[in-house]
Amino acid sequence: MDPKTLSTLHDVFKEVQKQPSWKAALDKLFGSLRGDFVFDNVAIYFLEPQTKVTDVIYARALGRGKGGEADISWGETFALDVMTKGKMILREPPKKTRVFDRLSQAYLLGFPISLSPQKKGAIVFVRFGGPPYSELHIHLASLQSSWALALIAQKELTHAYEELDSVQRQMRLQDDFVSTISHELRTPLGFIKGYSTSLLRQDTSWDEATQQEFLTIIDEEADRLTRLIEDMLESARLQSKTLQFKFAPVRLDALVRDVALRVNTHHPDLKIDFDVEPLPPVSGDGVRLAQVFENLFSNAIKYAPKSPLKIKIQAAGKKARIAFSDQGEGIPEDYLPFLFERFYRVPGERTVTGTGLGLYICKQIVMAHHGNIWVESVLDQGTTFFIELPADPAL
Ligand code: ADP
Repeated sequence: MDPKTLSTLHDVFKEVQKQPSWKAALDKLFGSLRGDFVFDNVAIYFLEPQTKVTDVIYARALGRGKGGEADISWGETFALDVMTKGKMILREPPKKTRVFDRLSQAYLLGFPISLSPQKKGAIVFVRFGGPPYSELHIHLASLQSSWALALIAQKELTHAYEELDSVQRQMRLQDDFVSTISHELRTPLGFIKGYSTSLLRQDTSWDEATQQEFLTIIDEEADRLTRLIEDMLESARLQSKTLQFKFAPVRLDALVRDVALRVNTHHPDLKIDFDVEPLPPVSGDGVRLAQVFENLFSNAIKYAPKSPLKIKIQAAGKKARIAFSDQGEGIPEDYLPFLFERFYRVPGERTVTGTGLGLYICKQIVMAHHGNIWVESVLDQGTTFFIELPADPAL
């Protein structure tokens, strides 16, 4: 091989590797050797093994020729031929003395590619109106095809790794959940059992105040158990999308103030500051939305104890945006992307009880309202949860 070709290939290789996506890499690959190998269009097809439908995963028109749609149809039957035969096919139009429409004179060159024995495909080059492909052109096209296949295989592999990673994380969360949940169920059950056994002991008599104290603990722990079971059922229903929502116009400020009032009866010291812009109602399920805010209050009380809270409601385009801020310790940035996942708890969060279901439930409810929920947090400054809900379309 002469040094000039080698150096060209080397430069193309470096450029292709630098591209941010597989499609950009293919653009670079097919675009950069055009000085030596001219063609009008290139398309990459894969046959879906189950449906037997041919998918076009990449198509590019570089020279003369038609728009994307037409390009794909010219190559489809030819691509299928290439896949079936499993070898390179060169197809030239019958020779005519005078050609008026160059586009009807397609010179096709196709190479079979496969990602696995089941997943077969083809790369097809076309030149409208010739000239015929020379031996060098066929070599270059073959090289580009193998190279393109390597890029696609790399993309598929990255995608498979990402999926595997997400499945593994989900499994780890599930494992953690089983141990968390058995701990969470055991703790209230242990209290209930312990205090009721004490009360039932024949050999000891308890004064009325102690009896009252024990019964209160039993009562509270039974409530906690109920909440836990409800959360688990709720999250299972939300996940399977079987939970019914009753939509009606909801005034967000009234709803949040209402929840805040209830929270304040149990936590009279909690300072809640409101900054509310008058807004039209949103379309929502008041009970479910209240549940979202109860969760945010309960988290702020658990994870940012003693911090005052600020609730800001304002318009954001055609949506209502609620910002719910505390001045607690904050959440390390690395954990933020996972916060709304089912069962996710920030590592090391073992002193405060919880199941990692609260924010997952919030997110599912907000999504059922076609809204959005996200979090921003700064260490030692605090955490803000944002919720955006679309305005009632009937208004
Ligand atoms: P749970 O409270 O049951 O652990 P959530 O889904 O409600 O589950 O919350 C997930 C995690 O997010 C919590 O474990 C906690 O670490 C973190 N978190 C939630 N709210 C806050 C907050 N206001 N400040 C700091 N961390 C928070």
